[in-house]
Amino acid sequence: MTYTTSLPKPSKPMPRVAVVGGGIMGGMTAASLRLKGADVTLFDPHPMGTGPGASIDTGRSFRVHYGQDETLMAMALQARRLWEHWSQEWGTNLLHGTSKVLVEKAGDASAKESWKAMRRLGLPADRRGREELAHEWPGFVADMATIDRLGGVLDPSDILPRLSPWLQKRGVRFKGAALDVSSQWVASAEGKEMFDVVVLTAGAWTQQWLDVPMDVTRQELVYFDAGSLGSRLDALPVFSNMASGFYAIPTAKDGRIKVANHHPGPSGHPDGDDRQVAPEFEARARQFLSLHLPELSEARVMRRYVCFYSGTSDRDFILDQMDDGMVLGCGFSGHGFKFAPLIGETLANMALGRPSDIPLDRFSAHRPSLRGELSKLAV
Ligand SMILES: Cc1cc2nc3c(=O)[nH]c(=O)nc-3n(C[C@H](O)[C@H](O)[C@H](O)COP(=O)(O)OP(=O)(O)OC[C@H]3O[C@@H](n4cnc5c(N)ncnc54)[C@H](O)[C@@H]3O)c2cc1C
Repeated sequence: MTYTTSLPKPSKPMPRVAVVGGGIMGGMTAASLRLKGADVTLFDPHPMGTGPGASIDTGRSFRVHYGQDETLMAMALQARRLWEHWSQEWGTNLLHGTSKVLVEKAGDASAKESWKAMRRLGLPADRRGREELAHEWPGFVADMATIDRLGGVLDPSDILPRLSPWLQKRGVRFKGAALDVSSQWVASAEGKEMFDVVVLTAGAWTQQWLDVPMDVTRQELVYFDAGSLGSRLDALPVFSNMASGFYAIPTAKDGRIKVANHHPGPSGHPDGDDRQVAPEFEARARQFLSLHLPELSEARVMRRYVCFYSGTSDRDFILDQMDDGMVLGCGFSGHGFKFAPLIGETLANMALGRPSDIPLDRFSAHRPSLRGELSKLAV
């Protein structure tokens, strides 16, 4: 994949593209479109990185391990290179490379499978026992774990506020909410505007306009005070357990560890939700944290929040162009952020009729596996 962050010389006429939804996927799509010479208008009711969407917060896990799924692994590697480009462009390291630890439980083969797959592909991964883990991360407790050495943390609260002015400076027009959308026009408070292509990246709001097989689910989050770990917090890896679905993301920036569960929760929607976290969930989150960092068993809760996954039944994304030409990117569930620059490239190529760098059949809006029951398995 060739990738540059310099604008091409203007060619006439430039394709006029609307992007509806300015979360990380819409933002990165707008960036790729602009870099490919398109004239871009981005619609969103909220300034980028704010509002009730999914692209908020201080911590998003980056990992390459995906069990034996070599396609997602290859995509994570491609995305990692693109995050490096954006790091260079903005003169800051966007991926805090702490590693990602996949805790292994008796009878759960997924951690070992991830380790085997990474090693088979020549990628840096280790399998470590209790003492070695505690040696590398003092205070961290687990009997056995796979370590994805390419893993780490991306920070939406750092990335989106950089992306937004970058887009504005390069001539992307920001407009408010789309009131109605078709493949050729977008209606907003400013009137109806015609476009050559419309890209829909509206996350949990996608179904306002398209009948896509996707479920929006309510995900509870608890942020624990981890300031007592001092400098150890900065080096602490993201850690998770596939079987229980629980994961923890340390963010030294705000002295916290976020604990949540990756399995899809009950159906819901960001609009109108009270964002309250049930005490039972908080207790389970604390239990998970205490199991692996016993010294935080009494840690103060600094924040409780509810975020929403937009998930499909097979937990894969939808990246497709509809029969009428509209380009759709949605269903990024709880693991899309890491892929965002690659998704942006993919949707931009689709909008401009260019070949894709990733296999698109898997992400078709018409694949049979989208018609199944919503899977409860984390990916
Ligand atoms: C709790 C949680 C934890 C996660 N953890 C991880 C992780 O560790 N690692 C990882 O890789 N991924 C993770 N993800 C997934 C990742 O954050 C999402 O996949 C990603 O942010 C989705 O981006 P998006 O742009 O598709 O959606 P959003 O960010 O929701 O963007 C959709 C946008 O559409 C806008 N919109 C709404 N109505 C309109 C309208 N009428 N007109 C125009 N625009 C409109 C909204 O304002 C919003 O900005 C997590 C997600 C959640 C919720």
